[in-house]
Amino acid sequence: MSKVRTAFFCQNCGAQTSKWIGYCPACKQWNTYVEEIIEKSSSASGGITGTSAGKKPSLISDISIQIHERILTGNNEFDRVLGGGIVPGSVILIGGEPGIGKSTLMLQLALQLDKRKVIYVSGEESEQQIKMRAERIRSTNGKPASPDQCYLLTETTLDDIFQHLKTLSPAIVMIDSIQTMRSSVIDSSAGSVSQLRECTAELVQFAKKNHVPVFLVGHITKDGTLAGPKVLEHMVDVVLQFEGDRNYLYRLLRTLKNRFGSASELGIYEMAASGLREVANPSEMLVSPREEPVSGTAVCVMMEGVRPMLIETQALVSSAVYGTPQRTTTGFDIRRLNMLLAVLEKRCGFRIGSKDVFLNIAGGIKVEDPAIDLGVISAILSSKEDSPVNIKTCFAAEVGLTGEIRPVNLIEQRIAEADKLGYDHIFISKNQVKSISRKNFRISVVALNKVEEVYMKLFGSK
Ligand SMILES: [Zn+2]
Repeated sequence: MSKVRTAFFCQNCGAQTSKWIGYCPACKQWNTYVEEIIEKSSSASGGITGTSAGKKPSLISDISIQIHERILTGNNEFDRVLGGGIVPGSVILIGGEPGIGKSTLMLQLALQLDKRKVIYVSGEESEQQIKMRAERIRSTNGKPASPDQCYLLTETTLDDIFQHLKTLSPAIVMIDSIQTMRSSVIDSSAGSVSQLRECTAELVQFAKKNHVPVFLVGHITKDGTLAGPKVLEHMVDVVLQFEGDRNYLYRLLRTLKNRFGSASELGIYEMAASGLREVANPSEMLVSPREEPVSGTAVCVMMEGVRPMLIETQALVSSAVYGTPQRTTTGFDIRRLNMLLAVLEKRCGFRIGSKDVFLNIAGGIKVEDPAIDLGVISAILSSKEDSPVNIKTCFAAEVGLTGEIRPVNLIEQRIAEADKLGYDHIFISKNQVKSISRKNFRISVVALNKVEEVYMKLFGSK
């Protein structure tokens, strides 16, 4: 077979063709194909195929299971997101938008793992820059991490990196970022699909052969896909996504894929000047502590994966200053807000068509859970009436187009969380009351059918 010298790769999904095409049949995107130089045919450059020469087929019953003890990082949120620590030999991809704090998270982990030899390979920053950041992290963490165990390497050529890994034999490898790495096997530039694929394949092979966990930092484009290829997601064992709004303090570490544990875990961090601080009890952080009730706020119980969290929604309803009323949201889908406002207007006769409505989810967290609908409506009503909702009341229900209060998933966990945090009342859908088997909640459950009833329950008769 003749050698393929160039090929075209879809920069979105990594699909490969020999000719340029305008439309990717694999991921249905336009204009994503870019020509990349490759020296070897794809079957030879794959790296992971046909490497374990000399392996024989063995009987399943003869294979002994080696249970490797997981490595605990000492960072509880991180360990939990991984499903109980790092599995030796696993490859973990951490994706996130540039500037969100992936490098800080990695470096912090490297310093926290002070009993193991960690090598942090950076193709992004200079040694001095990393050192300065490490000093900042260390100065506030109190405990001086033993500097002898954390190695820094600023290198982008994979072959050189492997040389260093051989002599150093570290316990954990961190690559920041995979987009800056180059393998000499492929001739195209760093960050191209074929390079990404080759570098990842070589690092996966290294991890499996040496039982050394490898972390890969990957940049994500604005629309949330890993820059370039989804291909990487298939090659690695664990995919974590680090997200948050740069202007806010909170960062979420979400599991998108985990071969060794649940794929719906979530870790929460707070960005401090010195690094990332774990938020062990998010419900307490995301609800503003207050003694006196304030109008326009309502507490909702949302689920992030399998973790219930209480979150505060804040609404401001005021007379429109300009002709067209404004609708602005932070952390909440604006179309959903418009729908909820329309429901309030149409079904319940609340006149808010001529009002400006601003809605804010505390902490800059994006919420997609429909269970916060009822809380959003309550916050809006509370602001409109300028009458506060009881601070010991919270909400967990979806609102439908006809104004019906609809059930949400995992309601018992939500009630339990609100109960644990000392709330007195939780508003849920009437359709769901029967399905609650646990009756030993201290919190009183208020069941509702229609959105009109919310108003009656909260503010009495009109
Ligand atoms: Zn594609």
